[in-house]
Parts: sequence; C-alpha cells; structure tokens
Amino acid sequence: MNIDAVLKDIYTQVQPLLAQGKVADYIPALANIDASTFGMAVTLNTGEFFGVGDYQNAFSIQSISKVFSFTLALRAYRQDLYQRVGREPSGDPFNSLVQLEYEAGIPRNPFINAGAIVVCDSLITHYANNQLNAFEQTLSFIRACCHDDSINFDQSVFESEMQYGYLNIALANLMKSFNNLDNDVDQVIKNYFQQCAVEMNCQQLSRAMLYLADHGSDPITGREFINGSQAKRINSLMLTCGHYDASGDFAFRVGLPGKSGVGGGIVAVIPGKMAIAVYSPALNKSGNSLAGTKALELFTTMTGLSIF
Ligand code: GLN
Repeated sequence: MNIDAVLKDIYTQVQPLLAQGKVADYIPALANIDASTFGMAVTLNTGEFFGVGDYQNAFSIQSISKVFSFTLALRAYRQDLYQRVGREPSGDPFNSLVQLEYEAGIPRNPFINAGAIVVCDSLITHYANNQLNAFEQTLSFIRACCHDDSINFDQSVFESEMQYGYLNIALANLMKSFNNLDNDVDQVIKNYFQQCAVEMNCQQLSRAMLYLADHGSDPITGREFINGSQAKRINSLMLTCGHYDASGDFAFRVGLPGKSGVGGGIVAVIPGKMAIAVYSPALNKSGNSLAGTKALELFTTMTGLSIF
C-alpha cells in the first residue's frame, strides 16, 4: 500500500471542505486561526512516518489531551476511577451541564469536559506529594509518549481559557457540590486548561499515540506505559465517546477509535498497525474538525484499514 499516495489524494479531496467549517471562537486565542490549514500524519508501529500538508504546524491539542490524562489516571486508580467517572457515551455536547445535575455529579465518561475535570482532580490528589504537579506529570507523560521534550503549552491559550472559562468552572462547581472533586475548583480548572493548551503538530501526535496501537507499550522503544487491558479500555472509550454527541457518526464513518479537540486536531488508532493525526481547524457543529473527519473516513475507505 502506498500511504504517501493515499495522503496526497486525501489532501486534494478535502480542499473544497476547508471553507465549510467554523473555527472555534469561544476564546480569542483560537478565533484567529487560519481555517485553510490542513495536515495529516501517519506513524507506523515500525516507526516509518508519512505526512502531507501542514503536518508540522503546531496547534492547540485541547481535548486530545484527555486521552493522556485519562491514561495516567487509569494507571493510578485502575477500576476505582469508575466510581467517579462513567464509561458510557453522553449523547450531549462536550461542555453540557444538564446530564451532570440529574446524574448526581458523576460525568458519563472521561472524554467530555466534566469527566476530564474529574480526571484532573484525581491526578492532583495522586501527585500531591510529588515534585512535579499533576499538569507537569501529564506534560512529561506526553513528552515521553512522543519522545520529544520540546513539547509545551501555550500560555496565551491558557490565559484566554481562564478568562472565558465560565462553563467549565460551572461544571467543576456543580461536581464539587456533589462531592466529586477533592481539590479546590481553581486548582483543578487551572490544571485542566493547562493541559488543553498543550501544543503539538500532527507528526508528534501520531508518534505519541502509538502506545495505544501496541497494547499500551511504545512499539518503537518497547517501553510499557500501561497494560494491554487498559489500552483496550482507552481505545474502546475513544471509539464510543471520543467525539461527544458525534461519536456514533465518527465510528460509523471512520471505523476507528479516535479523539478530537476544538483546536481542530483528531487522532485515530489502528491497533497493531499505526496511529494517525489530522489537523484542520474549521469545525462541524459538534466541535470536531470537519475536513479532519472526512480525511479519516477517506483514509479507512481507501486503505481498507479499520477495526471492522
Ligand atoms: N478547552 C476546551 C473546553 O474546555 C476543550 C473542549 C474540546 O476540545 N472539545 O471547552
């Protein structure tokens, strides 16, 4: 299979779609991003790499960070984590408050905002006596997954999130009122927004996700991050919950575990084979990259590679 040719073909086919989506505008730091950008990267479990377009453009990974923080929390708490956060699709937008009230402050899954906020809280508690705080642990884990210590977060995106974070702060307060947050709302929210503001490009993201394509271990270095059963659970949740209320549509069209972020990135995993990252900041109405979703659909259609 000629992956280079497939990526070039996808690049051409998505061009008309770039004008159709809408860049995230809930914070000024993301609103001014060039909507015509498109990049895609594939890293095989062998380490072989393929990229097209703006695959080296760094962008805000936003909710893709939830995969990394959930990995750390699952490693730390195992089954106990599910007492505080569920594992069912929510069928609601990523920042919805509604369900959280009638489900007594227990978020449906770790990939909606409320769930990721609980995960941050659990990591703050877990790393309380550590030299590195929970966010620094998450960042250091991302760097280790990617084998790249240059990865960092964007201070201006973080500050913008803090300034306009009303809804996320409301989610955190609601959960605090149900006794599902151990730490201060301010501290938890700061950690959450720092991880959302991490910047990576498609090449780095496709490399960083490889542990989920090889049962929890980095297939290139052999380093084990989590066990195979935990990797299975994370992939399953990416398939069922990785795109919020559009998770069913993504699974239907792409047929892979995937996770999106409002920065315009999407990662997808083909267990045993490769990880893929795509970036195109114009979003569909569920807050997922419009051209990015199409690109992944084209990839699995053209290569015949999906988990089904
Ligand atoms: N920072 C964003 C928020 O909390 C992340 C959401 C997302 O990427 N879907 O609203």
